[in-house]
This record gives sequence, C-alpha cells and structure tokens, in this order.
Amino acid sequence: MGVKDSYKHKGMRRSLVRILREKGIVNEGVLEAIGTVPRHVFFDEIFDSHAYQDKAFPIAEGQTISQPYTVAFQSDLLDVKPGAKILEVGTGSGYQCCILLELGADVVTIEYKEKLSMLAKQMLGKMGYHAHFLVGDGSNGYPQLGPYDGIIVTAGAPIRAIDPLVKQLKVGGKLIIPVGDLKSQKMLRISKISEQQIVQEEFNNFAFVPLLGDNGWKN
Ligand code: SAM
Repeated sequence: MGVKDSYKHKGMRRSLVRILREKGIVNEGVLEAIGTVPRHVFFDEIFDSHAYQDKAFPIAEGQTISQPYTVAFQSDLLDVKPGAKILEVGTGSGYQCCILLELGADVVTIEYKEKLSMLAKQMLGKMGYHAHFLVGDGSNGYPQLGPYDGIIVTAGAPIRAIDPLVKQLKVGGKLIIPVGDLKSQKMLRISKISEQQIVQEEFNNFAFVPLLGDNGWKN
C-alpha cells in the first residue's frame, strides 16, 4: 500500500471497530473491512486525530466523508457477496468504495463533482484499489454498465430517485438509499424480488448531504 499507515492508526481503527460493535454493527465482514481500510488518508494530516472518530467530516467541494457507522450500516444492508457488481452513487472521498472493494465487490462509482472523483481515483490508486470511476449525474444511475447486484446511494434523495435505480437492479438485487427531505432521511432497503415485485424495508433516520441532479434536489 503506497500510503502511510502506522501502528497508531491501526490501534485507532481497532477502537473504531469496538465502537461500531457497541453501536450494534454485527456484520463481521463489514467490521473487518473497517478495521482494514485506512480512513486517515482521506483527511488532511492536521485532522488526523478525527479520522477514527465515529463522525462525518468535511472534504473538498463542501461535501463530507460519511460517518463510519453510516458506512457500516449501509454496507451491512447491501449484503455484498464476493464478485457482486455494485453501483455507488456519490463517490465523495472514496472511503465507502474501499469498504465495498474489501468486501469483494466489483464497484462502479459515480460522482457529480469532477474534482472529488479525480481525488478519490488518485487516492484509491495509491492504496492499490481498483474501481470504475465515473463523473456524472448518478441520480439517473448508470444503465450502460448495469444491471447491478446492488446500488448504494450515499446522498439524501427524494422519493422519485427510487424508480430509475430499481430498474437497473438484477432480480435479487438491492437498493440502499436514504430517502426523505433535505434535513433528514430514512434509510430504505428495496429488494427486487422479480421484474414486477419489490419489497421495501425502512430503517433509522440519517442526515446526508443532498443528492443533486435530475432525480435529486436539482442544483
Ligand atoms: N460515499 C462517500 C464517501 O465514502 O466519502 C460519501 C459521499 S458524500 C456523503 C455524498 C456525495 O454524493 C458527494 O460527494 C456529492 O457530490 C455526491 N453527489 C450528490 N449528488 C450526486 C449525483 N446526482 N450523482 C453523483 N454524486 C452525487
């Protein structure tokens, strides 16, 4: 790995994993991935000590790296099987993408803000991870590379974002999406049972930055 990862960072990651267990995350694969992926590399060195706190944190372009609990929660709901083809909407820092890659997924990740996509691509390259990076409006999904075993949306979406994304799932696939208003969203898991049937489950409330674009909150 071409990034600095010290014993101190590894120790802080172990504590973060303990905190996530205490908060109810039980998926061992997800916990192992969080214990493996360095999160401090996405932070400016002066904010190093914040990297393993269970908090969202500002990144470039007014966006955020999601809270580790949120990353763990969404990754658990997605139930990634090795080799699964996953579309991530909202690359942001690239941290969630690393967790999906550690879980064995083949990841297509789309980001609205070109600069963020470029920075994430560079950083994941240094870390030795390989994903398919796209710049564009992920509120339309990315049918050209679908259908997907799973789609994970990491920005807060209005309800109309659901339909176009469900269309790009394989039968048996899952969409994990926070849906609500600009302040608060409920996490939904939408499972595609057949071409005609979906099952929708609702989980906790979260507060994401807004999904922009055609099926998002516009700009
Ligand atoms: N998954 C990210 C991580 O691990 O750092 C966190 C993502 S951040 C909470 C949400 C991201 O969604 C932002 O980078 C934002 O630019 C992006 N975004 C918002 N609307 C989008 C859209 N329509 N298509 C693609 N990305 C979008």
